[in-house]
Amino acid sequence: MLGRKRSYMPPDTPPDPTSSGTVRAATVFRLTVCFIVLVIVTFVTVEGWRAWRDYRQAFVMANDSVTNLARATAQHAEDAIRQVDVLTDALGERVEGDGLASINVPRIHALMVQQARIMPQLHGLFIYGPDGQWIVTDKAITPDQANNADRDYFIYHRTHTDRNVRIGEVVNSRSTGEPIIPVSRRLNNPDGSFAGVLLGTLRVSYFVDYYGDFKIDDKGALVLALRDGRILVRRPFSPAVTTQTLADSVIFKRYLPTSNEGVAEVKAVVDGTYRLYGYRALSSYPLVVEAGLSRESFVGPWRRDLIKTGLYLLLLVGFLTGFGFIVLGQLRQRIEMENELRQAHRTVQEMALTDSLTGLGNRRKLDMVLALEIRRAKRQGYPLALIMLDVDYFKRFNDKYGHSAGDDCLRRVADTLRKTLKRPADLAVRYGGEEFTVLLPDTTEVGAGLIAQEIVEAIRALAIEHSEHPLGIVTISGGIASCAPATGDVTPDELIKAADGFLYSAKNNGRNRWESVDTSSRVGVSRQGAQPQ
Ligand code: GH3
Ligand code: MG
Ligand code: MG
Repeated sequence: MLGRKRSYMPPDTPPDPTSSGTVRAATVFRLTVCFIVLVIVTFVTVEGWRAWRDYRQAFVMANDSVTNLARATAQHAEDAIRQVDVLTDALGERVEGDGLASINVPRIHALMVQQARIMPQLHGLFIYGPDGQWIVTDKAITPDQANNADRDYFIYHRTHTDRNVRIGEVVNSRSTGEPIIPVSRRLNNPDGSFAGVLLGTLRVSYFVDYYGDFKIDDKGALVLALRDGRILVRRPFSPAVTTQTLADSVIFKRYLPTSNEGVAEVKAVVDGTYRLYGYRALSSYPLVVEAGLSRESFVGPWRRDLIKTGLYLLLLVGFLTGFGFIVLGQLRQRIEMENELRQAHRTVQEMALTDSLTGLGNRRKLDMVLALEIRRAKRQGYPLALIMLDVDYFKRFNDKYGHSAGDDCLRRVADTLRKTLKRPADLAVRYGGEEFTVLLPDTTEVGAGLIAQEIVEAIRALAIEHSEHPLGIVTISGGIASCAPATGDVTPDELIKAADGFLYSAKNNGRNRWESVDTSSRVGVSRQGAQPQ
């Protein structure tokens, strides 16, 4: 269409006073949600990290504890045995020097009694002859026919020539009946032949008492065992435990062959409890100590602390969430209220700008849009056209057909205008009474003439009966004013007045037509849309 080629965007809608507040409230809402989530995540992360660190620390501390326990018990066992080792060595030399057949029994007995008294670990000292018979002990009474030839250590020394001290498995004493650990060495005749056995016995109870003094949990364990795994002492102690062996345990099978000292978390073969064990092989004797703390003993306090802080955290998170819900609820309420307000504002605004009879915009709308459009046309260099329309002989129509029929007629005229205008930016309003205005942004005079022509023809085509009209049907007249605001200032009033002038001219020239600068300057030229009266 001539003068209507360029693309055009309708002017901005008037600012909504409530929208910026709503945007602010929505932003505050989002920020509050983010803040609460951030606080909760931070708390949970910090607490999680702290719990993990405490867990690691509990393990490190337990590691240190079992290592220290293993060292202490190893040192204790080593000291206790070394004393007996040294004593039996000295005693053995003396006995061998004297010759076993000619030893001074009362003197040796007195010496043994004296030594036994100063060594709390020592249960007894014994010298056996080559056939196992008791020769001298630290005991006051030597049992009749007492013979130890059947003892494991005796058989060993009779059949082995090494002179080292030997630590045997736990046996029950033949003199007192209590469990003892035999520490023995071979006695030789001057010619090197077997002369007998010198035996020092250690009280198992001495170790049991010592181990009992350590402050470890009920499920903790302390073990003294031979290097081959046979248990000598254990806390908790029961006589039956000395018949058990650790030979098949992971520590004896896997760890001890490669390292004399270490820490391992394993399941105990004796009672099936999982413990963190510190183990250590004694440097001077074929003995091993193990110190074990149950996992529960060091994870338990950590877990209790975790549950406590977890509950506090849960409480805090609950409080924060509750608080968040209240704040967010209020924010949401505010946003909803603002939305409703905005909606109401829009409705009121629309009502204020709409003509209730025809549904078209009203004069207020034209005033608002026209001012905007002139500014916009000026900014963007567009032309602008305005058509003022007025139904012909409408007073007569009303008088003839009644006010209600007049209203119907106005509604049909409005529909026709609506249908004729195609572009979104085109605006038709009811200016008042039976007058209508069509605003055509980005449209030249010529283009507006075509639209006016279309309108005049379309109204005529409705063929609404109007017996008081010379043509017998309802017609409309129009006046066009156009401008190019970019090249000269123009006000809405000036534009309306100009269009009104041409409308007046169209009325005077016979109605059922439109007029503009073009048409009025061309005198005698047949006007578009004009029909004889
Ligand atoms: P002209 O051809 O010169 O325009 O003559 P006219 O009779 O149309 O003009 P006039 O201004 O004398 O009359 C306008 C009439 O329009 C007057 C009034 O009865 C009628 N009118 C104005 N508003 C309404 C309305 O809302 N509904 C109805 N039914 N009639 C209206
Ligand atoms: Mg009028
Ligand atoms: Mg009229």
